[in-house]
Amino acid sequence: MERAVTLELGDDGILVATMNLPGRPMNVVGDPLMAGIAEAAERLATDPAVKGLILASSKADFCAGGDLDNMFTWTRPEQAFEGSMAMKRVLRRMETTGKPVVAAIAGHALGGGLEIALACHARIVLDDPKLKLGQPEVKLGLLPGGGGTQRLPRLVGQQAALQICAEGNDIAPAKALQMGLVTELAQDRDDLMFKARTWCATHEKSQQPWDAPKFRWPGGDSRSPASVQMFSIAPSIASARSYGNYPAVQHIMSCVFEGGLLDFDSACEMESRYFAACVMSPESKAMIGTLWFQLNAIKKGASRPAGPAKTKVKKLGILGAGMMGAGIAYDSARAGIDVVLLDTSMEAAEKGKAYGQGLLDKALKKGRTTADKREALLARISPTTDYAALDGCDLVIEAVFEDRAIKADVTAKAEAVIAPSAVFASNTSTLPITGLAKASARPANFIGLHFFSPVDKMPLVEIIVGGETSDETLARGFDYVLQIGKTPIVVNDSRGFYTSRVFATYVMEGIAMLKEGVHPRSIEVAGLQAGMPMPPLALQDEVSLSLSMHVAEQTKKDLAAEGKTPSEHPGMAVIRQLCEAGRIGKKARQGFYDYTDDGKRLWPGLAELFPVAASQPDQHELVDRLMFVQANEAARCLEEGVLRSVADGNIGSIFGWGFAPFRGGALQFIDTVGVAAFVARARELAAAHGPRFAPAAMLVRLAEAGGRLNN
Ligand code: NAD
Repeated sequence: MERAVTLELGDDGILVATMNLPGRPMNVVGDPLMAGIAEAAERLATDPAVKGLILASSKADFCAGGDLDNMFTWTRPEQAFEGSMAMKRVLRRMETTGKPVVAAIAGHALGGGLEIALACHARIVLDDPKLKLGQPEVKLGLLPGGGGTQRLPRLVGQQAALQICAEGNDIAPAKALQMGLVTELAQDRDDLMFKARTWCATHEKSQQPWDAPKFRWPGGDSRSPASVQMFSIAPSIASARSYGNYPAVQHIMSCVFEGGLLDFDSACEMESRYFAACVMSPESKAMIGTLWFQLNAIKKGASRPAGPAKTKVKKLGILGAGMMGAGIAYDSARAGIDVVLLDTSMEAAEKGKAYGQGLLDKALKKGRTTADKREALLARISPTTDYAALDGCDLVIEAVFEDRAIKADVTAKAEAVIAPSAVFASNTSTLPITGLAKASARPANFIGLHFFSPVDKMPLVEIIVGGETSDETLARGFDYVLQIGKTPIVVNDSRGFYTSRVFATYVMEGIAMLKEGVHPRSIEVAGLQAGMPMPPLALQDEVSLSLSMHVAEQTKKDLAAEGKTPSEHPGMAVIRQLCEAGRIGKKARQGFYDYTDDGKRLWPGLAELFPVAASQPDQHELVDRLMFVQANEAARCLEEGVLRSVADGNIGSIFGWGFAPFRGGALQFIDTVGVAAFVARARELAAAHGPRFAPAAMLVRLAEAGGRLNN
């Protein structure tokens, strides 16, 4: 059987242990890898010919983190505790032989990977700004369970360690060197191994700082005045930010604080107990399920038709160089695609290109790009007003005004130039794709690619399959989204598609509460308590009340043309009232809030328009309403076939409108509550607040069958 770690003893007595986990694209911490490291540690400890150990990797990464596949099978806290302790026993053995151990890091060292490196006496790292070091476990509701919360504070101080573990952000090698996390930087792989060998040779006797009898904590332990001050406020700051929705953050703080009062080995055991608590938490289960397993499945093409061969876009046309067009142009050029950016005037087209230039200038200032790369990227964007320039485009995306006639006009003009096989996509946010495709001479090649604003920051693209869109077109759209580094979800055509439709239920529920006399402050706090990134009224101001009015009027007209009369959401009357008062949202500096240069505050006039009721509902009821209304609408989308998969529903909700990530997405939320319990509570809410809460029929069936939505 192939080995996870190969050992090679050099003439200089240095044992090089090279990690290369068979059958996996990256090294991950689990039994096979740890067994290999244990063997290396044992040789180091017992073989007098071995003078030192270098841990390296022959994969692109050093080690990318814990084996989540394995972790996900743990059902009892003892398993998580023992898994974490087993890793620590190996690392402890490795760092206490008295002989030097160096991590030679040429690729990402994340999570468990960084923890292995921390158990080495030195960390020599390739000076590559793209190389990532960090403890991202918190982003999946976990904490570093391989000693990370104990070695880091003893190496870089409690404050820096807390930041690394509780925020989970990556650290580039140069910064890591500054903070004392990294020992030395190397220029290339040869230099890396040379420096690692030299370090071993010059540090014959090695001991971790925390094992030295006179060890002093950098910045002091938990009893030092600075730490006492930090720990007296950090938990409340964290709670105020997360509303207690992320228990891992609290556990990380406890680990760092309690660890600062204990000897190293007791501290490691304590960390494993908190680790087990995290692993067993519904938050980590929900996040790992969605943000790891489902996201990976999507990226591997779970929602892409299997038949058509993989494609790449070489030349892209964008119609409309406004906010969205400019962002799409920038992101596509960044992925190496040649972009033709077309608008009605050269000035508008140039302005679209200038948007990318502005982003690049900022990146250049921060050292995130080079002048050459900036030039090369900008050279790929060609502003124009001439449709002939679209010749040779494999894909054209229209991002002109949200107006059917204008969209039809640009579709026809572009199709007259591009090859019959080229794909034409619309970035419409509200107009059904099947209807827009009527303006196309080749509706099979017509698709919706719904980007989110601001394009360069938002990771999601909602792909909308029109009535006549072919599988080939869908596959090509899907490949393009991956090509530019974004995450695609695939939905069938429908009003509001998936993301806009469900997102609206959140905002409108908050607005309906206002009409009922709920205090606006309670509504906003409920949004944040629910774990949403922005409260509903503030969000509606961002979107603009006039835009929502316009969309609602348009929808009403469209449905009337189909002979339907939809019932109006109770929140709509509030939006109309505010619009009539000229309070159309943030862009007018007045909506639910007043906006000044100093910030925003709820408009006092709301109290006159919507008097606060004498009796206020329980805050818990408000949170439930905001969450259930979204989850139920997402289930309806699944039932109606708008959503094609549960994974798309979950990922679309988190990446598209920021649905509480600790819930693992709008559909995962239903499973966490329990389908039967969800149905029962939804019925209660429907009785109290209206039929929009009536549980989707598929949920009722699922509850009866005792099933769940997510596998
Ligand atoms: P915008 O007003 O910023 O830009 C539209 C651009 O299209 C303008 O530069 C305009 O000059 C150009 N244009 C208008 N008619 C044209 C024509 N006939 N030929 C070529 N160019 C023309 O609008 P935006 O916010 O970028 O939105 C564009 C599209 O994207 C709309 O369909 C909108 O619904 C959709 N969308 C917007 C958002 C958002 O948050 N703004 C999000 C997703 C989708």
